[in-house]
Amino acid sequence: MTSTKTALLLVLLGISLNAFAANIPGKKWPGNTTEMYIGMPGTAPSGIAWSDALRKAAQAWNDTTPFTFTFNSQFLDPCTGYSKNPANSNFPNGDGDSRNGTGFNTTVCGNDFGSGVLAVTLIYTESNLLGAEDITEADIVFNSNERYDIYDGPLRFQTRTQDFGRIALHELGHVLGLGHEQTASAIMKATIGNLDSLQEDDINGATTLYNGYRNCPVTSFGFGRSSGSLATGDCRVRELIGGGSDDSFVDTYEFELAQPTQITLEMRSPSLDSVLVLMDARSDVLDVDDDGAGGCNSRITTTLAAGTYAVLANTFDGKSDCGDTFGPYELTLSYQSSTLPLLGRETSLRGGSSTARFSGGVTQNGGLSYSNLAKSTQPVDIKGSIQVDSAHQGKAGFIVVAAVMDNGRIYLRNSVGEFVPYDQAGGVITKAYSKVLGAVENVDILRNFTPLVAGYPSAQVNFLMGYGLSSNPDELYFHAAPINLLTGL
Ligand SMILES: [Zn+2]
Repeated sequence: MTSTKTALLLVLLGISLNAFAANIPGKKWPGNTTEMYIGMPGTAPSGIAWSDALRKAAQAWNDTTPFTFTFNSQFLDPCTGYSKNPANSNFPNGDGDSRNGTGFNTTVCGNDFGSGVLAVTLIYTESNLLGAEDITEADIVFNSNERYDIYDGPLRFQTRTQDFGRIALHELGHVLGLGHEQTASAIMKATIGNLDSLQEDDINGATTLYNGYRNCPVTSFGFGRSSGSLATGDCRVRELIGGGSDDSFVDTYEFELAQPTQITLEMRSPSLDSVLVLMDARSDVLDVDDDGAGGCNSRITTTLAAGTYAVLANTFDGKSDCGDTFGPYELTLSYQSSTLPLLGRETSLRGGSSTARFSGGVTQNGGLSYSNLAKSTQPVDIKGSIQVDSAHQGKAGFIVVAAVMDNGRIYLRNSVGEFVPYDQAGGVITKAYSKVLGAVENVDILRNFTPLVAGYPSAQVNFLMGYGLSSNPDELYFHAAPINLLTGL
């Protein structure tokens, strides 16, 4: 996060074809998509409609990058919302109309194109929570003082006939946020050439711009607490978002929710000025917090739909008025639920598949509500529920309950309710109990367990439950996301 927050609306001019690396200023469309009005009237001498050539050029970007142009077949004058600017010969006046028009014009909405300029893309941006701006409008004005056709291959210098198709490819690259490439072979070079299709550099540039948080190493994360640190060598925000100038360190975590869930994220440090950023799977920023947990610590509480999300453990770029911009931190993800939480994907020990569904959670009020955060002075119950695969119902089977400690040690519950160390080398799975499997198996994973009394005033334990069939005792069906218990409140 940058330490300045501005809400400017600015106009940038993308002058093309005087000079065409992938230069990525970092500006981008939220949601990786925008609608282009492509209904330019008329047809090239070759017989191809301008609108078809525009659609083909946009489709080339769609087919090779994470960005998607959608199409509105109506004509929209790119100069809608703009007028001549007497103060500046390159910039038109006005705020546009928040729609992306395309068309021929003798001027850039009243201002001169300038010498040798074939087309101009007018881009509007507004400031974004992470520093690089969001693009809000991009209009392409083609210079109608030039002669155009649509063709492949070398430029037709003798007749000074421009290829509309490659110009459209180039300008659409500006629309999606690319600047000019200086060195590599690219459609985004500032001068037009014999290239008539997207090059590796163009595709890599747009992919980096729209890969979002996956541009940095991503650690998978679940409910509970983990430690990290922001330090030299970490990814930086400008790398994560594919542009901009934000040099602050960032660690990236990804988590999945199996159902709509109220979550709380906390980032705490004794020295670092923590900043939390919550993103959806498309890298759109959902929430940002700096000091919500008091001091220099941050907290986000929100309700999210089922899906994949990213948490960025971030700080400030350069100076902070609240602690350092590097150092250790603890990140905690917790939930609050009035029903037993669904545990997401099912998995198995030997690779067998099942339609079993698993739910489970920690309660300290007899099941009125569930959360992974528990007071160590009060009794904890951990409840589980298994919807058994219909093919397994009515068959002789067994239930297994495991506790995975923070140090990685695994304990399995035995038939008298004690957790005994699991000897992975031995490979024998200790069963909690055996029974004929019903449609739903309710499992009391832990009952009336007071962490402080049991010697766990502050601890993290992940619980798993599963079932197997007596006819295939080495296979176990269980859930990928553990039931987290974090004591010490
Ligand atoms: Zn250009």
